[in-house]
Amino acid sequence: MATAMEMPPVQECVVATCAYNHTGDCHAFAITIGSADHAHCHTFVEMPVRGGVEAMTAQVGACKRADCRHNSGLECHAPAIRVGPDNDMADCLTYDGR
Ligand code: SF4
Repeated sequence: MATAMEMPPVQECVVATCAYNHTGDCHAFAITIGSADHAHCHTFVEMPVRGGVEAMTAQVGACKRADCRHNSGLECHAPAIRVGPDNDMADCLTYDGR
């Protein structure tokens, strides 16, 4: 039987306006990264409520940036990622094009 792989943690996210951001960290259960043209965080959302689970640190559940050197099979294999403004408000800053 296959065992579950560990997903990369979101080590830091500086996007304070996101509902999942508490104090420079992301508390969503898992995030999805990747647009056609850049490494956008698709979990980013601006809402008046605080989301996520305080006791948890978010992990990368899926990533569509197949051209990133950390990506294999549309999954992230980086040790950890950082999220912040780049092309957009909330992007994966660990993205490294092949
Ligand atoms: S490091 Fe690369 S593979 Fe991992 S989430 Fe960021 S863009 Fe995707």
